[in-house]
Amino acid sequence: MSGRVIVVTSGKGGVGKTTSTANIGTALAKNGAKVVMIDTDIGLRNLDLLMGLENRIVYTLIDVIEEKCKLQQALVKDKKNPNLALLAAAQTRDKSAASPEQMVEICKQLKEDFDFVMVDCPAGIEQGFQNAIAGATEAIIITTPEMSAVRDADRIIGLLESKEDILNYKLVLNRVRPKMIQSNDMLGVTDVTDILSVKLLGVIPEDENIIISTNRGEPIVNMENTKAGTAYMNIARRIMGEEIEIPDFETPPPTFIDKVKNFFLATASS
Ligand code: ADP
Ligand code: MG
Repeated sequence: MSGRVIVVTSGKGGVGKTTSTANIGTALAKNGAKVVMIDTDIGLRNLDLLMGLENRIVYTLIDVIEEKCKLQQALVKDKKNPNLALLAAAQTRDKSAASPEQMVEICKQLKEDFDFVMVDCPAGIEQGFQNAIAGATEAIIITTPEMSAVRDADRIIGLLESKEDILNYKLVLNRVRPKMIQSNDMLGVTDVTDILSVKLLGVIPEDENIIISTNRGEPIVNMENTKAGTAYMNIARRIMGEEIEIPDFETPPPTFIDKVKNFFLATASS
């Protein structure tokens, strides 16, 4: 098997990389794919917390690199889905403990056993970023509709374009509030894709359930009927090749008066 290695990156911190890695990874596994997620945010690991796996970690990415254990020993199985595994980041080592060459090697081994290797990237464009993208051939860029996040995403896109091994990258716009877009108080979906001239993979609405899911250590895709969970499930299906339309977050829903007007216009013209 030769799996796909997808890095989840953004430039700016706090825009939803780890949330997106956990949920897209879990959603892919729920759809039957074999998935491993790698946390490369050394020192600030939190993918394990979001997955509720923090107590199960024995070995980390750095232990594998330092040959303190075999790669297989460091993979933590998800509690619910046997198709899903996590390779955790070390919490204490300094960030230069890993090199891009070592990451390439780890990804190479993992993609023999998994359909998807999802790499959660640290913020910034330094060593940690270089390591995270090293083994990847695809990227998901996360941004929120704020100028500072969009600017950092633009920078990341420039860096990804200069990297030959990245064959394609797409955008996920996170924390969208449809009402604020409709009242022109927030950048719209097309505003952001126009600025970045990048293909859209999905749009995640602002959703309080994300806080509940984070506190429970359970990805939101495992909760029933949430807006963000549905959006993440659809992203996973798009990654697996299905054509699923992205909902329109920009046009305000018709008001009662609009509906009455449309009714009279329709009857007048028939
Ligand atoms: P990053 O990994 O990019 O630093 P995180 O995934 O840790 O970002 O998310 C940062 C914070 O934003 C977390 O507290 C998370 O719960 C919150 N968050 C992310 N996406 C959403 C969303 N769609 N709705 C509400 N809160 C969100
Ligand atoms: Mg993170």
